[in-house]
Amino acid sequence: MGARSGNNYLSALKKLGAEIWIGGTRAGEVTSYPAFANCARSVASLYDMQMEHPEAMTFRTDDGGRAGMSFIIPKSVEDVRKRTKMMKTWADFGCGMLGRTPDYLNVSIAAMAAARDFFSESDPRFGDNIWNYYLEARHHDWCATHTLVNPRASRAAGWSGQTDADLALKLVEKTNEGIVVNGCRLLATLAPMSEELLVFPSTVLKAEPAAEPFALSFAIPCNAKGLKFLCRDTYDLGRPRFDHPLASRFDEMDAVVVFDNVVVPWNRVFLCGDVVRCNSLYAATSAVVHMMHQVVVKNVAKSEFLLGLAARIAESSDAMPLQHVRERLAEMITTVETMRSCLRAAEADAAVDKWGVFVPARPPLDTARNLFPRLYPRMVEIIQLNSSSSLMATPSAADFANPDELPDLERYFAAADSPARERVALYRLAWDVACSSFGGRQVLYERFFFGDPVRMASALVDNTDLKPLVDRVKAFLKRPD
Ligand SMILES: Cc1cc2nc3c(=O)[nH]c(=O)nc-3n(C[C@H](O)[C@H](O)[C@H](O)COP(=O)(O)OP(=O)(O)OC[C@H]3O[C@@H](n4cnc5c(N)ncnc54)[C@H](O)[C@@H]3O)c2cc1C
Repeated sequence: MGARSGNNYLSALKKLGAEIWIGGTRAGEVTSYPAFANCARSVASLYDMQMEHPEAMTFRTDDGGRAGMSFIIPKSVEDVRKRTKMMKTWADFGCGMLGRTPDYLNVSIAAMAAARDFFSESDPRFGDNIWNYYLEARHHDWCATHTLVNPRASRAAGWSGQTDADLALKLVEKTNEGIVVNGCRLLATLAPMSEELLVFPSTVLKAEPAAEPFALSFAIPCNAKGLKFLCRDTYDLGRPRFDHPLASRFDEMDAVVVFDNVVVPWNRVFLCGDVVRCNSLYAATSAVVHMMHQVVVKNVAKSEFLLGLAARIAESSDAMPLQHVRERLAEMITTVETMRSCLRAAEADAAVDKWGVFVPARPPLDTARNLFPRLYPRMVEIIQLNSSSSLMATPSAADFANPDELPDLERYFAAADSPARERVALYRLAWDVACSSFGGRQVLYERFFFGDPVRMASALVDNTDLKPLVDRVKAFLKRPD
């Protein structure tokens, strides 16, 4: 099939019947279930763009078909740039608020497939498995979720000490059919709207036999027997678009995943019991860098959207001449330009890795991913500071529909350059960015979704060659005069 349409995605999701729990009940058919239907429709719109703009959103495969551009295995800087453009189109559609557009995982599957020998070295079957899985995922244009982190009841001995081995996802047995796994993982974003679950290695495991049952990498359909998704509250409360402009479109949902003796067929296993390879998988296959590429494109889209919103708020409230407002806008501009510059540098310095794939340069992407968890909350804070009580002066669509209230609304809620309805729509959007549950979750997402910021910072130190700089300092200290 190759690149799919929104209808194709929705009908596949409709038939899936994954076990999804929310608010004390098992959710029914997802595409019409209130908590998920709107976001599923948004994801469908992304797929429709592939049909509407095939040249920009898809690429021609060896078999003559067309596949979604995020499945491309880049062979040139030009391929990397084409992928940026496609990902930006998707990110802009969701105002950067849909973090898990399917490209997030597609780029990672493509990178791992290109590095199939990495998996073959563990077991020759695994290299074939990851390659065939890539072809299958690309052919069906699947929407996937993933889960990396094991739950912890206590920090007493730290994860690597396996204190919570009873909670963590682990291998129970190997059978002729496949591997049987049991336990729990968090956190699968977009799970209810996904067809496939990718399970990749969790945070670094100790290189010791006791860690081997936890060293797993595989993929299973979301409706696999024994697989359950336990969702948080929905932030899409079924309100009109006017009331909750973002939550009514883009609540991508997060779920804890329970594996109740789930059988993973052998052809879906990519690594099993290989602690060393599990620990190095993301870096060795360059998958982490390709994912950072998607993330930084999203950061550009999201920071641009918030800057546009802040500028419109300043304009409509006649606050543009105020010095402190200008200073804050300038701060947001520097965020946008920093993200754009990191992206551009990463593309410009893209180079071939040992698997023959063009990979965007890691240092600028790493810089962006370390900065954004701090910059995004500050952008949200600026929206709050520049909007203040206007974020609360936000009557709903129902109020505007009531003729008894309308004269007061029209009189007291108008802005310098816009009528009341327009002004309230603007501040309801600002509220959904900066104050609502949806907005709060976005801040949390940016702080943590790509990993604990402390460990991300530590990885940046490890990946930076500091020696030449230290040598310069030493040489300076030795200068005779
Ligand atoms: C909205 C959202 C969506 C997400 N979506 C996904 C997803 O789709 N797939 C997925 O796999 N994961 C997802 N995640 C999970 C994400 O991978 C984790 O949040 C991240 O890896 C951090 O792990 P943690 O939450 O267990 O935090 P922890 O590791 O518990 O860290 C919490 C805090 O404690 C500190 N800390 C931890 N250990 C120590 C220590 N030993 N000493 C001192 N301080 C310490 C950390 O620095 C941090 O500040 C998501 C998270 C969020 C918030």
